Amino acid sequence: MLNDQDRIFTNLYGFEDWHLDGARKRGQWSGTKGFVDQGRDWIIEQLKGSGLRGRGGAGFPTGLKMSFMPKASDNGRAHYLVVNADESEPGTCKDREILRHDPQLLIEGCLIACRAMDAHHCYIYVRGEYITERLHLEQAVREAYEAKLIGKDNVHGWDFELGVHHGAGAYICGEETALLESLEGKKGMPRLKPPFPANMGLYGAPTTVNNVETIAVVPEILRRGANWFAGLGRPNNTGTKLFCISGHVERPCTVEEEMGITFRELVEKHCGGVRGGWDNLLAVIPGGSSVPLIPHWECDDLNMDFDTLREKRSGLGTAAVIVMDKSTDIIKAIARLSHFYKHESCGQCTPCREGTGWMWRVMERLVEGRADKREIDQLLDVTKRIEGHTICALGDAAAWPVQGLIRHFRPEIEKRIEGYQAAHPAPVPMAAE
Ligand code: SF4
Repeated sequence: MLNDQDRIFTNLYGFEDWHLDGARKRGQWSGTKGFVDQGRDWIIEQLKGSGLRGRGGAGFPTGLKMSFMPKASDNGRAHYLVVNADESEPGTCKDREILRHDPQLLIEGCLIACRAMDAHHCYIYVRGEYITERLHLEQAVREAYEAKLIGKDNVHGWDFELGVHHGAGAYICGEETALLESLEGKKGMPRLKPPFPANMGLYGAPTTVNNVETIAVVPEILRRGANWFAGLGRPNNTGTKLFCISGHVERPCTVEEEMGITFRELVEKHCGGVRGGWDNLLAVIPGGSSVPLIPHWECDDLNMDFDTLREKRSGLGTAAVIVMDKSTDIIKAIARLSHFYKHESCGQCTPCREGTGWMWRVMERLVEGRADKREIDQLLDVTKRIEGHTICALGDAAAWPVQGLIRHFRPEIEKRIEGYQAAHPAPVPMAAE
């Protein structure tokens, strides 16, 4: 459990002033010049030592990712940092809180991360629906420019220009290469990789795309030390983490906690518990809608971290914890997600474009039970033909929730089909027939 003094986002609930003066009172922008002066290698080593892993979903080690950027002297091209604030994953609202209540922490992190990657330009790509957040961020950027904290000839001795870009509301623009396309003014469609952005990203130049939370924790890691951060959480899953807990809990919230806290402690300490009590839990989606659900019988002592959840064949993802109690129609809930992914597919690769629609149509019939039991395996087969066969991870994200449903709730699906067949004795044709 996290002590108050170990919190990074001390203005998470917005009780204090989010403007520059308030941020400075909370200790932000202190010691920044010293970090910048230490230079690229020192910053990257600190981040490696802290064990920080990306907070956007993939959990890739941040220091290592930054080290992939070529050195400025290698090619003479511009380098870019792009911050992904296109927070569109269902259930996720953690970056929103940072933009609302602690934007200076993010701006300070951008400057330091740019120094670590020999970059002088940064763009923050904000989700289309985040109007207030974008206005806060733009105001915060203005204040930082006016105080000479950023910009040309700033007090930190590292020229640094920061632009805020407002997206237009497409989920797929949260995928890093689609985001870069969109930033360049093109249609937001993922690129084939390789080449990876670190070699050929924005405008063909070396680019790293990082999540808001990842960048916003960097200044505090340097201020308090890599060992402090590495001492929190569990091995290989260090530090603090913002969890957004929604669904069937008494008090949904976004909260900063120690990585690896158990799911039960998280909801009971911060959310007043599962609605109707712990025994009323049906399942949880622990990391945004793109990861498979975990049934209630696997939730006792479930550690909320990257490695534990991967072992459970799920994932920490964005740490958007969606709790479902026993009143949930679990088949309908997953069918709703299937519709979401069908709607958001950019359509450029066949397994995703065709497969997401196929999955959704079968799922809609399973909700009613209007299907043949053999279609459950057929549906599973469709998910396998999508998984790993698409340009970007949206295909996997669409397949995994369905796989999780079949893995854990097959008897429920079969029962639904039996119920329908009992009420409608004529045989139901299979989708492929
Ligand atoms: Fe587009 Fe889907 Fe292919 Fe991603 S997986 S590139 S969203 S069609």
